[in-house]
Amino acid sequence: MHPPPDDAKGAAGPPGTLTLVATPIGNLGDMPARGLAVLAASDAVLCEDTRVTAKLAARHGLAPSLVALHEHNEEAMIPRLLARLAAGERLALVSDAGTPLVSDPGYRLVRAAIAAGHRVTAVPGPSAALAALAVSGLPPAPFLFLGFLPPKAGARRARIGELARLEAAGLAATLVLFEAPQRLGALLADLAAGLGEARPAAVARELTKLFEEVARDSLGALAVRYASETPRGEIVVVVGPAGGPVAADDASVQRLLDAALARGLGVRDAAAEVAAATGRPRREVYARALRASGRE
Ligand code: SAM
Repeated sequence: MHPPPDDAKGAAGPPGTLTLVATPIGNLGDMPARGLAVLAASDAVLCEDTRVTAKLAARHGLAPSLVALHEHNEEAMIPRLLARLAAGERLALVSDAGTPLVSDPGYRLVRAAIAAGHRVTAVPGPSAALAALAVSGLPPAPFLFLGFLPPKAGARRARIGELARLEAAGLAATLVLFEAPQRLGALLADLAAGLGEARPAAVARELTKLFEEVARDSLGALAVRYASETPRGEIVVVVGPAGGPVAADDASVQRLLDAALARGLGVRDAAAEVAAATGRPRREVYARALRASGRE
């Protein structure tokens, strides 16, 4: 018996399917096996940077037909791509790393494909946001994925101010943010100032790669650490929910005091701030602050 003519394309679904394929976020061993089958079977693979995807495909002995789809041409490409789906082609969409649409292109195309009645499916796999959330040690649900905050300080602080207002009104979710290494210190300082020095947080760096590191501490202490250290590589920041338990053990109180004093606060103000943030008695924190400042 002969297989139907379309059998070789079976992995990419029925004609007119758009498949969102996740790719590794650093460790090439994380490429989903089914994702490779979809790339091999698709009529075209839409990708952010054709060089990045060509390299990934070549590693697996594949040479798919690549079409560049990025922030700047996505809108303009949609009519052409819908026509290809309407003609029965199977299209795959990948980003340079991780899950498409997660701070990456594809949302407009997915909306348009759904509206036109095409089948949209996914090969799930790596995503830095979920990997960081999972290893952070912070509550996994509910979580709020914020992507990148605005790079400019004023707009970033305004966004954090909005978050603080939402939290004051009852939002209690773990926050997940992407940030570039050169802005990490500024982001953490703004988060600590806007959401609370004592909020537990994690900085997940180079996930799945050789130099993977997860720093778990209060926002205040992380802000001090990364004020003087520009980390290398890729970073996700995870912040524990408002109203949750704060780091109030001796070591955390000490780190928060050191952080407040390093920001230039006087002993009295630093002690008041840390006592309020941790719920520890003010007198005890003041005595500790005096010792930390060397004035006792
Ligand atoms: N779509 C991707 C995903 O699902 O993970 C994210 C793309 S976004 C343009 C790139 C950002 O993701 C980086 O700036 C960094 O914040 C984060 N990121 C990507 N890979 C990472 C890794 N291996 N470790 C930590 N963060 C990572």
